[in-house]
Amino acid sequence: MAKKLLVLLLVLFCIGPSTALVSLGAFAGPLGFCVTDSLTVGPIPDSLTATTADGTPVVLGKQQLTHAATIITTGAGIPGVGEAGVRIALVAALTESRLLMLSNTGAYPESAGFPNDGDASDHDSLGLFQMRPAAGWGTVAELMNPAYQAKAFYGGKDGPNYPSPRGLLDIPGWQQMDPGSAAQAVEVSAFPERYRNWQPVADAILTALTKPASGGGHNSGGGEVPETSRVVFPLPAGSYNATDSFGWRTDPFTGESEFHSGSDLAAPDGTPIYAVADGRVAVAEFGGWGGLVIIEHTVKGARVASYYVHMWRDGIYVTAGETVAAGQHIADVGSSGRSTGPHLHLEIHPGGQGQPPVNAVEWLTQHGAVPSDGTSMTAPGCRANLGGQR
Ligand SMILES: [Zn+2]
Repeated sequence: MAKKLLVLLLVLFCIGPSTALVSLGAFAGPLGFCVTDSLTVGPIPDSLTATTADGTPVVLGKQQLTHAATIITTGAGIPGVGEAGVRIALVAALTESRLLMLSNTGAYPESAGFPNDGDASDHDSLGLFQMRPAAGWGTVAELMNPAYQAKAFYGGKDGPNYPSPRGLLDIPGWQQMDPGSAAQAVEVSAFPERYRNWQPVADAILTALTKPASGGGHNSGGGEVPETSRVVFPLPAGSYNATDSFGWRTDPFTGESEFHSGSDLAAPDGTPIYAVADGRVAVAEFGGWGGLVIIEHTVKGARVASYYVHMWRDGIYVTAGETVAAGQHIADVGSSGRSTGPHLHLEIHPGGQGQPPVNAVEWLTQHGAVPSDGTSMTAPGCRANLGGQR
């Protein structure tokens, strides 16, 4: 009787700070575990906004968070990993791939035949942890499986590669290292700072996925977006140069290889930016990205979001919730945030806000984008700002 009461109290204690779903997971394990950290994954939010240690905002989508859930659940099932080990694995996958399952058609054409979130062709690595078949991490088929990569990363005596290449559990004293150094030790990379930068994001993921989902990220909140009438280029014809494209590049700030999620279109400060399709503004703000506008569209029946970045604070002419037309003048080119000169950083996310990006310029071309003349569909009042921009 007394024992029963004690059990009940422990259960109530577990339910208190977490959701029913998380608690259900806690029920399954020994009761003692549920009062400490739980690695049971609850509902996966559609998106999560977090900030790196150097202050760069990051928006993770459902696909990335689903991979994070795989990493957490895999780690939870391996004795000795625990929350500390899972945090290190998240730091490593964020640093290596931004939590994307990347194929590599340059080195391994067959990798494109497996489910993936994009292609990174100029390395000979694959997937979430950018593991190299040539270094003995696994076959292409094995490494295109997120759960296999997670198991290989954790390693240990029951890991798929024991004793080499070494996983986290094979690194002596990993528990005493800071997460960035431990992640670096597994990945054998020369840039520990790069890993440390992602620690706050890994923490945010752990909190969001193992605690109640709180609606996460910015949501337009507004249901259906009607099919677009057309797709247009976001800058006037002849006004811009595509200076950098989607994919791996050397980060202009850190000098390190990073995945660039958008297309950079260099244009004079103040050049008008047009919505690429009819849609609804989900985000219009000035923050860590500098100016940021996100618009949700329906194109050929599919949800897609367009991101416009680096505008000045006074160069944004739309607000969240507003409906816009393709070709509408929504903002002006600026150079705010992490920018080295006036340009539009354009991202296209099939599936909607927070989903993995694709090459924006290619997407526009594939969807029959027409040049915008800047005269049609411009909302009244927008043009008053032209000419006065920096
Ligand atoms: Zn960019």
